[in-house]
Amino acid sequence: MTDNHIIAFTRGVPPIESFPIKRLEECAQTVLERDGNCLLQYGQAAGYVPLREWLAAQYAVSKGQVIVGQGSLQLLDTLVRVSLQPQDSVFLEQPTYDRVLTIFRRSGTQLEGIDLQNGLLDVAQLEEKLNAGMRPRYFYLIPDFQNPSGAVMPLEARQKLIELSQTYGFYLIEDGPYRDLRYHGQALPALFELAPERVIFMSSYSKLISPGLRVGFMILPPELAEMVRKFAEDTYINASYLNQAIAYEFIQRGWLAENLGQLKELYRPRLDTLLSTLEAEFSGRAEWVKPEGGFFVGLNLAQGICVPDRTAQQKAGLALSDSRGFFIDGGEQFVRLPFCALTPEQLEEGVRRLSRAIFS
Ligand code: PMP
Repeated sequence: MTDNHIIAFTRGVPPIESFPIKRLEECAQTVLERDGNCLLQYGQAAGYVPLREWLAAQYAVSKGQVIVGQGSLQLLDTLVRVSLQPQDSVFLEQPTYDRVLTIFRRSGTQLEGIDLQNGLLDVAQLEEKLNAGMRPRYFYLIPDFQNPSGAVMPLEARQKLIELSQTYGFYLIEDGPYRDLRYHGQALPALFELAPERVIFMSSYSKLISPGLRVGFMILPPELAEMVRKFAEDTYINASYLNQAIAYEFIQRGWLAENLGQLKELYRPRLDTLLSTLEAEFSGRAEWVKPEGGFFVGLNLAQGICVPDRTAQQKAGLALSDSRGFFIDGGEQFVRLPFCALTPEQLEEGVRRLSRAIFS
């Protein structure tokens, strides 16, 4: 790697070497030969029926509660459009996924951030807002390997959130695209597993197969599912049946499980290298959650230390995303480090460049 080669800690994308191209090619050929007449026609708005039936069995819900879309973000956007009014309010973790923040901002609803401090949700702050009379419609959360912080919500916090959602009558929107990408340690139960009646669960094959497939899903209470389905029918008609059939064939052949195993082998050393290099370069100068999976590590720089601006990043051979996008307000001292698309060598070099750009 030459010195002028920019190391990009920008979007959380999978590396191209993770794409199972040959296997997807085989799946595409099989489904087209077997079922081309159906797949190339318009389809049902809620999505490809065999995939929905399989998901319904996985999550122990009725098929009518499962909507498959062109990625999970599209379904969240639709849910927001059909179910929120400007006078509603929504709670989010702060920081949170920047695109989701944009979707909620566009809806014109009142947004309230609940701080994640060193990866722990400030439950006292949440209770304060509820006690003060605030009544959110939704609380959007990423409990497993949060984007952008990497945090995993402890079991007690999950239970407390469910209790509060029951008491105050709001839905938890649980976004779980990284949940299965665990490289060390044991999984905690999903919010959806703890209280399916209080949780809208969304996830996606973007990080488990390929983002270009654009296959994501949402599990909703029947009346909300019907509103999302109707909006789909009235606008884009249906998300690509062909892509959903390819994903379904991939799953049925047992290749999703195999792919997940390979992804973990690929990403584990990347995470380990990032964490050990951060320890060497940023100890005492920043705080960060040490995740056991996912795509991100989020750095909170110590008081008085600022994120280098674009010019300083360029000079150091580095590109960062604008962290203010992850916050309703603030974010000047936060750096998101997506690690899956960089090799261990690039990660070591990237963290050193970041350290030099900040401290020299
Ligand atoms: N939610 C989170 C938390 C994400 O990080 C991402 C992808 N970066 C998405 C949703 C988007 O998923 P999809 O590709 O299925 O729209």
